[in-house]
Amino acid sequence: MDTQNVIIIGGGAAGLSGALYLARAGLKPLLFAGSPPGGQLMLTTDVENFPGQDAILGPNLIETMRKQAIKFGTTIIDENVKSVKIGSDQLKSAESASGKTYVSKALIIATGAKALWMGLPSETRLRGKGVSACATCDGFFFKNKVVAIIGGGDSALEEALTLTKFASKVYVIHRRAEFKASKIMQKRVLGHEKIEVIWNAQVLEVVGQLKVESLKLKVPEGEKTIEVSGVFVAIGHRPDTDLFKELIELDEKGYVMTVNTIALENLKFEILNLKSNIDEENALKIKNLKLKIQKFDTTYGTQTSASGVFGAGDCVDHVYKQASTAAGMGVQAALDAERWLENN
Ligand code: NDP
Repeated sequence: MDTQNVIIIGGGAAGLSGALYLARAGLKPLLFAGSPPGGQLMLTTDVENFPGQDAILGPNLIETMRKQAIKFGTTIIDENVKSVKIGSDQLKSAESASGKTYVSKALIIATGAKALWMGLPSETRLRGKGVSACATCDGFFFKNKVVAIIGGGDSALEEALTLTKFASKVYVIHRRAEFKASKIMQKRVLGHEKIEVIWNAQVLEVVGQLKVESLKLKVPEGEKTIEVSGVFVAIGHRPDTDLFKELIELDEKGYVMTVNTIALENLKFEILNLKSNIDEENALKIKNLKLKIQKFDTTYGTQTSASGVFGAGDCVDHVYKQASTAAGMGVQAALDAERWLENN
């Protein structure tokens, strides 16, 4: 079997943008797009914040990216990868769901992260019709409307504040009587005139046939219905990185660590160290981080702890999580992989 230059695992914005650059560099990348292919954009309706695209449906944006990547010489396989290995000769191999093994010199991991959902049938039915997992992407569609955000972590509170820029009122629905989010975020949310928090509340149903009309909640006093036009679910994300946990360093939540992300993590601790005495918990975190750092070659910003393995998109990034930032990181990984191939 031929050895490929680069295998890309992931057919979302990051993987396809990386493929475009590698293909245009004549490196004929092989991309596993998964089954079903396309990543989080396939679950989105209107995308109005992808630069250069006035308004486009998420699946159409992916289709356009696929055609562009294929046009320049990318081979796309619409299958999942079931195992990945790195040989002692540094060659990477990926076994597809149908049992075929493909070998490459470099590998780009762009497997994304899935937004977690509450698991209600009504939530699934109304996804893209008023139910969303991204306030930055969809908040704009709720100008002067009443919306609800579900969750009590930093994401939920940050998204609640984002939504106040558009909505007339924002309910924060949290299942406990105390937020998990940082104190500073809590202070901003609790003091905001447009935000009302409903504590100890469980969502029973998102009500509406063709669009969201209200939310049915279970609260300590009984059942309660609030009228809302939008429901934003912000209860966390899970990166799709199980395949790689024996091969590369992941953070404690399972996100792929690259030179860029581990450097930022290290900087945070160095600044903390300068400002205050480190407590026992942080001292242990620093010790673990220093052990991990030794495994990284800092030549390439998107390189993981394994030589020739690069990470891009939402499986790396739990901060920005945008199609355009994933696409940008895919390009960085492609350029890094190209340089790595020249040097190895
Ligand atoms: P978290 O896991 O921190 O929080 C998830 C929240 O959702 C929790 O409040 C949790 O409730 C709630 N929740 C979980 N499952 C359900 C469910 N089935 N039904 C209802 N509620 C549920 O995720 P985040 O995405 O908020 O944050 C992830 C990481 O990213 C964190 O480390 C966070 O600090 C960080 N982050 C930092 C930001 C910043 O610094 N600006 C911005 C955004 C994120 P409970 O509290 O009861 O567990």
